[in-house]
Amino acid sequence: MAEIYYDDDADLSIIQSKKVAVIGYGSQGHAHALNLRDSGVEVVVGLREGSSSIAKAQEQGLATAPVEEAVKDADVIMILAPDQHQRTIYSEQIEPNMKKGAALFFAHGFNIRFGYIKPSPDHDVCMVAPKGPGHTVRRQYVEGRGVPDIVAIEQDASGQAWQLALSYAKAIGGTRAGVIKTTFTEETETDLFGEQAVLCGGVSQLIQYGFETLVEAGYQPEIAYFEVLHELKLIVDLINEGGLTKQRWSISDTAEYGDYVSGPRVISPVVKENMKEVLSDIQTGAFAERFISDQDKGGPEFQELRRRGEGHEIEKVGADLRKMFSWKSVDEDYSDGH
Ligand code: NDP
Ligand code: MG
Ligand code: MG
Repeated sequence: MAEIYYDDDADLSIIQSKKVAVIGYGSQGHAHALNLRDSGVEVVVGLREGSSSIAKAQEQGLATAPVEEAVKDADVIMILAPDQHQRTIYSEQIEPNMKKGAALFFAHGFNIRFGYIKPSPDHDVCMVAPKGPGHTVRRQYVEGRGVPDIVAIEQDASGQAWQLALSYAKAIGGTRAGVIKTTFTEETETDLFGEQAVLCGGVSQLIQYGFETLVEAGYQPEIAYFEVLHELKLIVDLINEGGLTKQRWSISDTAEYGDYVSGPRVISPVVKENMKEVLSDIQTGAFAERFISDQDKGGPEFQELRRRGEGHEIEKVGADLRKMFSWKSVDEDYSDGH
């Protein structure tokens, strides 16, 4: 059984006695910096010169500094720039300026797991990874709740790394919900697998195929959008509240029967074999290598894939439909940091 920790297990005063530098002010960066500040922690946001994030952070009352300056005094450095840029930021701006014994924090284990960042042994290396988008991490905190975190220790130079990480998790609201102990390896591999096979990759492809099947059969694209995309949120909310059983309890018997007989036809055992290949590419480092080598060239493959995704007909139909209906999705959420 997983080890789970709550507010009472964590001592907020540990992180309150430290100076924290948060590097980056995007999706996770803004949420961590603001939640830490509101929990009484001294925070500075480290950003590169000319960054558009400087004004945003300052408007919200936070101190900002160039990355080199921000890390000089910091006891805890949380790296929340995009994964593909972290190794350069670390080697050029963080490592040469870090205080002896400063703790290095991550919200995803990518750079440690695949060896792109190799901190010297005199630093604590910790992970506090919220299991939700940054904007939710901030919103939940403001509402007095929190997003669950998973926490891991890669290096415990101080002997206090675990208590420090739990204290950080408390300051961003994580222990209000619950914090699960993991390792950098487990977090990195399962996080990449979840987003590739199910949450992002799997779901996006499933939606696109469903939409294409209906439209190619002559149905209206607007109707297809509702049936394969819009309603997904309602179903996912039920799954989130009470598992697949609650979802099946709420839908009609017709839908439930169709779920049992057609689900396994659409997602056949071949899909599970494909998932195993995806997992294997993650474990061997082949995925990381492909991502980073494309990013090092400026991301030509990434840009092309993004362009193709945005050009799919369901995106145009959806954008028009969302303008016409009184329910509004949280479109403003992804204009920030992406
Ligand atoms: P974002 O893409 O939102 O980060 C953008 C921020 O990083 C901006 O403030 C940007 O500033 C800054 N930045 C980019 N390049 C540099 C640089 N060279 N030097 C300094 N700052 C830079 O990142 P995310 O929040 O999505 O991800 C951060 C980490 O959190 C990653 O490790 C990710 O895996 C992890 N994570 C993310 C989740 C999410 O919800 N997105 C969920 C859980 C974990 P500028 O204006 O200069 O570009
Ligand atoms: Mg991820
Ligand atoms: Mg229906």
